[in-house]
Amino acid sequence: MRLVSFSARGHARVGALDGDWIVDLTRAARAHYADRGVTRPGARARALLPPSMTQLLAGGDEALALAREVVAEIRPHLAHAPEARALENDGVAWRAGDVRLLPPVPAPPKILCVGRNYAEHAREGGGEPPTIPIYFGRFPHSLLGPGEPYVLPAASEQVDYEGELAAVIGRRGRDIPESQALDYVAGYTVFNDISIRDFQRRTTQWMIGKNFDRSGPLGPALVTRDEVPNPQSLVLTVDVSGERLQEAGTDIMIFTVAYLIADVSRALTLEPGDIIATGTPSGVGFARKPPRWLRAGDTVRVSITKVGVLETPVVARAG
Ligand code: MN
Repeated sequence: MRLVSFSARGHARVGALDGDWIVDLTRAARAHYADRGVTRPGARARALLPPSMTQLLAGGDEALALAREVVAEIRPHLAHAPEARALENDGVAWRAGDVRLLPPVPAPPKILCVGRNYAEHAREGGGEPPTIPIYFGRFPHSLLGPGEPYVLPAASEQVDYEGELAAVIGRRGRDIPESQALDYVAGYTVFNDISIRDFQRRTTQWMIGKNFDRSGPLGPALVTRDEVPNPQSLVLTVDVSGERLQEAGTDIMIFTVAYLIADVSRALTLEPGDIIATGTPSGVGFARKPPRWLRAGDTVRVSITKVGVLETPVVARAG
């Protein structure tokens, strides 16, 4: 299942992408309960499939099972134009092109990023591969929806791309054993850790250069874990304006998704909706000769097999 967060008529909602359609999970669940004569179907639907990804994920496997069931119920009706129109009028189904996608988790409780998790990338930055994961944080204000334009900042011309696999946590846990760690993942999505290099490096803490407004495209969908049984067997590519600049298998990550979950959960409780961005492979802009900084008119396309394609047009700021 490909879960999305989207904005329709000014309200944030959660859906499942199904071909050209997005099934609105809260409304589909309401219809599901109403058909069965359940009392207060709307309240039941909002309790189990609320229109907030973080809250929905907190419902765990029960919520995801209901989501799959309601999508399977709606799907045959979408194949018949008059029925599809009726579902569209009721806001149960939306045409994917008619809504604005948000980051699949618009406001994660935590965004934990990992630096230098690919050996060649550590070396192109002038360092040795780390023996301990290097974590830094992002805040939700720094996320950007899939397909949304990234507006270049006034303060810097050293704007760089970093394609990354992101794991989304689906279950609360502390001191999680590595052998069970992937059971705590709801699914995976694509991340572009756009980095403002001069601000990243002017102090020992990278935080500011990694937290410019709307500098972290995430999405388009949260692909549930059942569709990605092994997150270390994927291929990640980054194309900037049609030129292939990054390409690597996730099998060469230094610290695997399972290792990172086990390691970081020794320190803090992971919660549904938390994001772990697993780092970028070699080929970023600053390490190229000459450097390849992002400029207005570029499109950055990060693609990960089984997970999706995240496109971000780069634009100049107004004025
Ligand atoms: Mn990164």
